[in-house]
Amino acid sequence: MTDLQEQLQDAVELIQQARQIVALTGAGISTESGIPDFRSPGSIWQRYPPTSYQDFINKPEARQNYWQIRRSLSGKVAAAQPNAAHYALVELERRGVLEGVITQNFDGLHQDAGHNPERVIELHGTSRAAACTLCGARSSITELQQRVDAGEVDPRCPDCGGFLKAATILFGQRVPEVELSRAKELAATCDLFLVVGSSLKVMPAATLPRLALHRDIPLIIVNLRPTPLDDAADVVIHEKAGVVLPSLAALLT
Ligand code: NAD
Repeated sequence: MTDLQEQLQDAVELIQQARQIVALTGAGISTESGIPDFRSPGSIWQRYPPTSYQDFINKPEARQNYWQIRRSLSGKVAAAQPNAAHYALVELERRGVLEGVITQNFDGLHQDAGHNPERVIELHGTSRAAACTLCGARSSITELQQRVDAGEVDPRCPDCGGFLKAATILFGQRVPEVELSRAKELAATCDLFLVVGSSLKVMPAATLPRLALHRDIPLIIVNLRPTPLDDAADVVIHEKAGVVLPSLAALLT
């Protein structure tokens, strides 16, 4: 058996013993759908450093930087389709063993793959809507993007005058309390924690597998590059999610 086959076998044994699996996904699950992640070598943050919430509110140049990043991403996100890794998680839900998917992604691909939307927790919001940074009112992201593309600088909310942006979370912006509590509850009650395509460097998402580990719950990590929790995990697979997850699903009896 190759190392990968052994790792897959170990992971399958853990999955087969589990009844309440929780998956935490990051940008890595969607790279095979054509949406680049932010941290891998050569990706977006090396060209445009991330915009913090405080800078977005206070500095016009930070808002320009934000719209630059969005411009280079939004076409890819709009064109993206779920890949084999997204569908493999749906297969776990169909088998009745996946309690929920906690995602750091804003691309909506888990829902497109066919999950019950109530089982998907979007910790970092969604890029499929726009939101006012002051009053929180939601509006159409398509219309907002059209305004920016037509040259409007700093589009503002018609109700309160706050700056508009996609309904996603920037660094320094609080993760919505409802989503975070639901995610913590899942991490506190699951019997297997599965990480897919996350560097486990972004807080507070990175604390969630630790909640499971504190209860001695098995942890499986599928990520191309090492993460800070690799040493604590029961199985670590440094391979593409789109290769590993369908193989796991196929090995389940
Ligand atoms: P991240 O913590 O999500 O890291 C991505 C990880 O995925 C990296 O460690 C990388 O090695 C791994 N990876 C890449 N391709 C993979 C593959 N095919 N299979 C398995 N692993 C793979 O964080 P980030 O990319 O630094 O992004 C930071 C934040 O920005 C995210 O938490 C998210 O909120 C947001 N983001 C979202 C999207 C999206 O919605 N698709 C894309 C980029 C960034």
